[in-house]
Order: sequence, then C-alpha cells, then structure tokens
Amino acid sequence: VKTVKVINYEKNKENIGLCLVIQNITKIRALEKMRSDFVANVSHELRTPLTSIKGFAETLKFVEDKNTRDKFLDIIYVESERLTRLINDILTLSELENKDYSANFEKININESLEEIYSIMEPAARNKGIKLIYEKYDKSLYIYGDRDKFKQMFINLIDNAIKYTPKDGKVEIIISLDNHMSRIDIKDNGIGISKEHISRLFERFYRVDKARSRSVGGTGLGLAIVKHILTIFNGSIDVKSESGKGTTFSVYLPCIDVKEV
Ligand code: ADP
Repeated sequence: VKTVKVINYEKNKENIGLCLVIQNITKIRALEKMRSDFVANVSHELRTPLTSIKGFAETLKFVEDKNTRDKFLDIIYVESERLTRLINDILTLSELENKDYSANFEKININESLEEIYSIMEPAARNKGIKLIYEKYDKSLYIYGDRDKFKQMFINLIDNAIKYTPKDGKVEIIISLDNHMSRIDIKDNGIGISKEHISRLFERFYRVDKARSRSVGGTGLGLAIVKHILTIFNGSIDVKSESGKGTTFSVYLPCIDVKEV
C-alpha cells in the first residue's frame, strides 16, 4: 500500500490520499523458488562427484596393490569428467539466461547444418553399435538463429537418443516442412519414456532414472538447455514416446525461406 499526496486543484489545497497497489506475485514467488531449488540442486550435484574424488584420492595414499590403485584412479578420472560436464552445462544455462543472442542471428540452412552435426555425432553412434541416419530434405529450408546454439540443441538431442538406445538400435534425423514451420525429428527406437514423466523432462535436473542417466554420463541439464535455446529461437518442441519402443523429439522452428535444390 502506498501513501500519495493528492492535489485538490479547485481549492488549491493538498489532500492526503491512499493509493492501493495490488500486485500478483505468484509468478515472482515461483521464479524465486525455482532459483533457490536450482542452487540447492547444483550444490548437491557438484558435491557428489567431489566427495567421491576426495575420498578416493585420500585412500589412494594407503593402497599398495597396483590394480586397486588403477581402479581408484579410473574413478577419479570419470568423476572429474562428470564435474567438467556439469560445470559446462551450468555455465551454458547461465549464459543463455543473460546474453542477448539476437546480435549473432544469421540465416541458417537446415540441410547443411544438420549434415555437419551428423558428421560430428556419427562416430559416437557407430562406437555404440547404433546406426545414425540422416536424409537431406528435398528443399533447402532456412531459419534465423544463432549457429552455435542451433548445433548445441541438436547435439544434445542426438546425444540423448544415442545414450538411451541400446546397441543395434537406430537414430534418425528427419527434416520436413509443416505449415510454414521447419520440423526436425530426432527419432530413436530406444528405451522410451513412460507418460507420467513427459511433462517434466525439460525441468533442470529432472531424470526418469537417475542411476541410468549417471551411468551414461548425463547431467540432467541437456533438455533444459534445448528448451532455453528454443525460446531464443521462437521455436517449440514436442515429445512422443512409448516405453520400450522409442522416442521422437520434434523441433519446430519458424521457416524464413524455402528454396528448391
Ligand atoms: P540427462 O543428462 O540425464 O540425459 P536430459 O535433460 O538430457 O538429462 O534428459 C532428461 C531425462 O530425459 C534423461 O535423464 C532421460 O531419463 C530422459 N530422456 C531424454 N532423452 C531420451 C530419449 N531419447 N530416450 C529415453 N529417455 C530420454
């Protein structure tokens, strides 16, 4: 409630009045809660690998057996890698929140960019015994956006598809034009996601199966980063999945130009 002076011009007198300002702070409170939850989650996520590194490094001094020492050193290495990934993802999210990306926006040819992303991801898929399939679309579709962030978004989605698809599976990158929107599907025939988890997938640190995510090197931030990038690009994402059958993430981006190839 704010107190304000109200000038009564007719009588040239000053009257004291009350001005009631009612503001709905539900959103502000929700945002504050989200931030404090995020800080608590970050602290927890960083502490887990750090505790492990510290514990094994301390014990190492007293271990003489070479095999056990090597095992401990492997754990320290894996946990350090995990810490690096976590810190990189946290920094990416904070950068996405604070930087103005519109300055870096340029015309992106989807066929060309996805071909580049395919050649980055194909060796990782092949190493795991997964076939990564990419078919060029028969038209050149152009969108407007930041090239590095476009790349990062699809690397995250394809990396997930590879992580959550067992050996001998397949991951497809499919481009199409859907009502003036370019649509890119990342489709896998992996473990799938059951219905009750779908609406929460894009929350920071949300994982369907924490142990599985951890064992495949996940941080729980990949999809939150994808969602953030899509907000910057004015795009959207849709998920269709069936447990045990596979998952398709469909990314929609406003198409600024279409050319015959
Ligand atoms: P993570 O680093 O754990 O993979 P993400 O934010 O990238 O975190 O994904 C959140 C969760 O969504 C994952 O932990 C996983 O349970 C689920 N998920 C994401 N992509 C897929 C997929 N293609 N198939 C099955 N589950 C998936």
